[in-house]
Amino acid sequence: MDVIFAQRNDPAVSTSVGSEVSQETEPGEEKVTYQYTYNGDGAMMMESTGTVTTIYIGGIYEYVVSGAEVITRSYYYAGSQRVAMREGGELFYLLGDHLGSTSLTLDASGNKVAEQRFSPWGMSRYAWGNEKTDYGFTGQRSNGYINLIKMGVRWYDPALGRFTQPDSIVPGAGNPMAYDRYMYTFSNPLRYSDPSGHIPECGPDGMWCDDVITADEYFITFTTAGGEEWEAANQAAVLEAVYAVAKKLGSYMEKTAGLAWMTVFGFMTFQMGGCDECNGTGGFAANFDLIKFASFPADWREDRALRARNLVTHELGHAFSQGHGRKPETALGEAQKNPLFPNRPNFPENTPDGWTGGRYGYASEQNVLTWQMSSAQAGTLSEEFADMFLGWTFGVWDASDAGVMRSNFMITTMFDVLNTYYP
Ligand SMILES: [Zn+2]
Repeated sequence: MDVIFAQRNDPAVSTSVGSEVSQETEPGEEKVTYQYTYNGDGAMMMESTGTVTTIYIGGIYEYVVSGAEVITRSYYYAGSQRVAMREGGELFYLLGDHLGSTSLTLDASGNKVAEQRFSPWGMSRYAWGNEKTDYGFTGQRSNGYINLIKMGVRWYDPALGRFTQPDSIVPGAGNPMAYDRYMYTFSNPLRYSDPSGHIPECGPDGMWCDDVITADEYFITFTTAGGEEWEAANQAAVLEAVYAVAKKLGSYMEKTAGLAWMTVFGFMTFQMGGCDECNGTGGFAANFDLIKFASFPADWREDRALRARNLVTHELGHAFSQGHGRKPETALGEAQKNPLFPNRPNFPENTPDGWTGGRYGYASEQNVLTWQMSSAQAGTLSEEFADMFLGWTFGVWDASDAGVMRSNFMITTMFDVLNTYYP
């Protein structure tokens, strides 16, 4: 791939078409062509300007040919932190900040050779001495000529605080516009870094590898309307449901829970109150990224925490189906053409003799609510799938042929939908 850049020190205006990146040039500005070679994993193996060629071997070795001169650099790590380098025969220590930026370079005797400091978005705000390495802001390689930083698979522009190319991973496929694919570290550069150029598997700061999640870490917003308030216990029920769904998605997608959540759901808002569609109690998935609750009914005395969590999970099932073209519901409609498939009858609410309280493969009777959350239009594809999403998330079904059929349907369907949207 050839990439042509113009040298400039002001904020760059970058456009990208396919894999090519070009920048506007002013008349008379010098142009230079960088040629890059990547391996099959997307790692840069060679950079050439025509006069200087650098060969990269992983992150540990560089071989620089500049005319007749050859420079070799080796890097040394403690864990993932780059701590030292050797240029030719000379050893240097690299000291970093909390984001892994190289801020001090010391020689083998501990004398300062170079110092560099960065603004929150990665612009140089102080430089002293003869910097030995291109690894600077958050420990990533910068190209001082074009003023861009290589963040894994993409180039990042510290003057704009944005990537120059969109992320190839699109979280929240049901609502892709909600996510800015050029955004760097969720616009929070003081806290996070992005060495892969994608959202890291463990999330910024490793937060998605934590066992306890917070609303912030999963980019969940709690709002209120109609004078209602969130109780702490009900917010905890939301987070518990989110984490359970995230872990289940992650196990199907071979991702960490947090990355799976961000990939499938992205940013979600949970609103307490102001839900006309809730018919007094319960919840309503208004769209893919907004779930409203009228209330978590106070008369749910027994197993209240369990029922609150399950109500949220049921609503997430609705949101999942909505966000994925209602494909799961379509598949359920197909499955129900098999006369052996347990088909919960549609029934008018409050009809005394319409519903006998059967399990239909669910782990509890409908009027017990714990594992059959839906009541109104209980037999619709939408409500059946939402309840089955609950059973799938926690792996809880009735020990009957009907329960096995529902479980098998969910395993097959969830793999199929996730594989279709996130291959
Ligand atoms: Zn429902």
